[in-house]
Amino acid sequence: MKTDRRNFLRTAGLFALAGMTGVETLFATSGKKVIPSSKGGLSLSFLPYELQLQHVFTLANSSRKTTPDVLTRIEIDGVVGYGEASMPPYLGESIESATRFLSSLDLSQFTDPFQMDDILQYVDSVMPGNTAAKAAVDIALHDLVGKILKQPWYKIWGFDPSDTPHTSFTIGIDTPEIVRQKVAEAAPYKILKVKLGLATDREMIETIRSVTDRPLCVDVNQGWTDRVKALETIHWLKENGVILVEQPMPKTAVDDMAWLTQNSPLPTVADESLQRLPDVIKAHGVYSGINIKLMKCTGMREAHQMLTLARSLDMKVMIGCMTETSCGVSAASQLAPKADWADLDGNVLITNDPFAGMQIIDGKVTLTDKPGIGLKVVKKLF
Ligand code: MG
Repeated sequence: MKTDRRNFLRTAGLFALAGMTGVETLFATSGKKVIPSSKGGLSLSFLPYELQLQHVFTLANSSRKTTPDVLTRIEIDGVVGYGEASMPPYLGESIESATRFLSSLDLSQFTDPFQMDDILQYVDSVMPGNTAAKAAVDIALHDLVGKILKQPWYKIWGFDPSDTPHTSFTIGIDTPEIVRQKVAEAAPYKILKVKLGLATDREMIETIRSVTDRPLCVDVNQGWTDRVKALETIHWLKENGVILVEQPMPKTAVDDMAWLTQNSPLPTVADESLQRLPDVIKAHGVYSGINIKLMKCTGMREAHQMLTLARSLDMKVMIGCMTETSCGVSAASQLAPKADWADLDGNVLITNDPFAGMQIIDGKVTLTDKPGIGLKVVKKLF
């Protein structure tokens, strides 16, 4: 660990404050410009940024109060695009790994930001994995190019912004009292997404049903292991106004999952089972739909390809997110007009969002007409 940290600090070599060690202290560098890179081409800089969550966030297998994040910016000729890597710890990336990855890139070799295909292929080829760090570059590049074109990406892709779905709002696993409080806070949202996967599943649903009759999505986060019991529960959930079931079983239980989807009265959606473009093919016939998240799939370019492929296979599409600032969420929302469902509440779950962008108005994903990913910088950090 100590060696890792030393390597990280040496590799990064960016944080000029004397005597600083450890990631925590890097957060204190807010406002410091971070990475130099300029030979006349694209200039990449980044800043570690810890997201503060409003509530302790509990899933079937973990809970936490913060999310590690790295903000990026790419600049050329005075135009700046913003990006972000949000890295919930269970996905395996960290401030250290993202810093290492971003430090290893040389974007100054690219003088034409419109060569996005070549640039992002290079970024993807530098090392495997690091999907959130790659997304941070991809999003900033899309933002930059959209700003140069003076158009938002939903328009460049040819989507009608009025086609966006309502977003769900996530209710984590908690005590009945807190769950009721969270449902009250979620008043503007037309659909709630309920985290299940523990012994309290039916209690969670009954608690929510005691205060609202809004439609529910459930996300089991791989928490069910018996397919027959899972099917029984899905029938019960349908009677209780649930409209879809996300990742009910472990990602390794492919045959059980195919059986469950075939017999399920509700659509099933792959999340942990699916990361990148080739996984869409693997999910076909096993799930009814896929949850595309920029942090899993390296960003907007591949997300757009996944959306197109899934629709061509007659699969449903959800656009999701991690806990993210408005940067990541606004980037994802550019795809929302072509999604069946949206789960884009990541920015409202945090208390220190430095951006404003896509908004949820009466529960609906509402795109701005600002270019790129539609962001406004509220608090300039770097
Ligand atoms: Mg999920």
